[in-house]
Parts: sequence; C-alpha cells; structure tokens
Amino acid sequence: MNLALFPRVRLAHLPTPLEPLPRLSEALGGPEIWIKRDDCTGLSTGGNKTRKLEFLMAEAQRQDAEVVLTQGATQSNHARQTAAAAARMGMGCHILLEDRTGYAHDDYRRNGNVLLDHLHGATMEHHGPGLDMNAELEAAAERERAEGRRAYAIPGGGSNPTGALGYVNCALEMMGQFAAAGLAVDHIVHATGSAGTQAGLVTGLKAMNAGIPLLGIGVRAPRAKQEANVFALAQATAERLGCPGVVARADVVANCDYVGPGYGIPAEDTLEAIDLFAKTEAILLDPVYSAKGAAGLIDLIRKGRFGKGDRVVFLHTGGAFGLAGYAHCFDVPG
Ligand SMILES: *Cc1c(COP(=O)(O)O)cnc(C)c1O
Repeated sequence: MNLALFPRVRLAHLPTPLEPLPRLSEALGGPEIWIKRDDCTGLSTGGNKTRKLEFLMAEAQRQDAEVVLTQGATQSNHARQTAAAAARMGMGCHILLEDRTGYAHDDYRRNGNVLLDHLHGATMEHHGPGLDMNAELEAAAERERAEGRRAYAIPGGGSNPTGALGYVNCALEMMGQFAAAGLAVDHIVHATGSAGTQAGLVTGLKAMNAGIPLLGIGVRAPRAKQEANVFALAQATAERLGCPGVVARADVVANCDYVGPGYGIPAEDTLEAIDLFAKTEAILLDPVYSAKGAAGLIDLIRKGRFGKGDRVVFLHTGGAFGLAGYAHCFDVPG
C-alpha cells in the first residue's frame, strides 16, 4: 500500500500524542494502559472524523465542490468536524440531523456540537428517527445540484473507503510511535459506530502485518451487524489500497455489550467511565462514543480479558464537546 497516492488535504494536527495513563492503570490494578489522543486532532475541538475528512475533502476539492452535505445524529461530532472543514476550505456545508434519542432538552438540541455547526456557518435541517438518512442525504444533494450548485455528499460518519484511509494513516502513525517508544503493544481498543475507524485501522494493521489485535466497542448496532459492516468496509478499503484480501473475517472483532439503552443514551457504566477518566487522568470522554468504549475497556479489564502485564492502547476518538449537550445527565450542584 502507498497512501501518498491518494489526494489529501491537511486538516489535523498530526501525529496526535501517545501517552501513558498511570493513574487509571493503577486504579484498575493493571494492565498498562496507554491512550492515543485522537481527541486532539485540532480541528474545532478535534476528534476522529478529521482524519477521514483529510481524504474526503480532498476528493470534494478535486470535484470542485461548492457545498458539502452530510448527515448524523443531532449531537454528531462528524457533522461538526465536516462543518469546520468546509469553513476552512471556503465551501458551504449543509447538514441533515436525525433525532435518534428523543431528548427534548434545550442543551441537547442547541448546545454542544449543534452550537459549533452553527458557528461554522453550516445550514441544518432536523429529521425524526427511522428514516434512511443516507437516502435523505442523496436527495438533499440532488436538490442542491438542481439549483445549480456543485455538491459533494459525505456519508454518515465519513465511513466509506475514502474516509477509512484516514484510519489506515492512523495505523501507520501508531506503529511508528510504538517503534520509536520501544512499546510492544498487545491490544488496541476503541469505540466503533459507522465502522470507518475500525475498518481503516484493521486494514492498515493487517497490511503492515502488525500482529496487534483490535477490539471495537459498539455504540449502536448488535455485534453481528457491526462486525459485518466493518468487514465489508475493510474489504473495500483494502481493495482501494491495492492489497485486496488482506483482512480476514476473523480480524474484525466488536463487542456490543456496552450500548446500554441505545445510541446516544448513556448507561450507568458510561457515566462511571466519564467520571473515572476525568478524576484519574483529567481526560474528558463523551457520553455517545468514547465513554461507551471506555466502559467496555474498564469492564473487560475487571473481567480479566487482558493480562496484568499487557500493554493496552485506548484510542480516544474525541467527542467531549458534546458533553455540553448532555448537561442534563450530570448531577451538578447549583
Ligand atoms: C464517530 C465517532 C466514533 C466512531 O467512529 P466510526 O468511524 O463512526 O466507527 C467514535 N468516537 C467518536 C467521538 C465519534 O465521533
């Protein structure tokens, strides 16, 4: 594979830091936990979508797009990073937001990521739950084109083979950091949703023959569906990279036991993970993705899934600005 063959714009602060979490490791009684700070990609408070957008926005630019469109849940981090990338590149941005949680709180509907979407100049339309949002997105892009604008549609989460290249790049970056630090990593764990992060990572790791197992902690779909989505996207990504077949079905592992009441609704262990990371390491997690991933990591550590001396890297995928949309979930004394 040769990533330099793919058009890319620079939007992220890279490499993101790789840091030890000694107080969290001690609180859990081992293993040795490290964190890869993709919450620090820099663009409008950062997060994992920025790496994908480096490749997606380059494609939009090549097509001479005037406006990019995308879709996500109301508090979508992906929508916010897309709005920011469009602002940076002088393009318009239109976002379709889906109400997946039923939260009517003012902070959920107007603060957090929604506030930033607005500040970056994106226009938004709100939809109820249960629609085929990628079909709605295509229809909205067609409306733009009918009005004479060159429109580029980015699927939910930026998860297609172009976007997934951003996480192939992250796999390369991490392997370089592990080698430079002399760190023999035993596991990488992260939150998985629209599948592009895990698909890109597993493709990059396998293409390098890294020998490091990857575990995605699901935030929405049940395990069979999540693994099938990731595997299909990994196969397509490997093909684009010129290494078809490099990912086997058995390389794709998701654990979807930490979704709780549903997408975007924190469970008790989600809030406990936020609390533990904030108090031991001053790391902020978000209630939709990274804290569900961390809840899985914490519970699996307690259940002995990892050896005491193992080195486990938690990939922080960002999202903490969304906390401002979830103030109603925390008991803050007034
Ligand atoms: C989108 C997102 C994820 C999930 O990444 P996918 O590529 O959609 O699987 C994880 N964490 C955060 C904070 C996100 O915004």
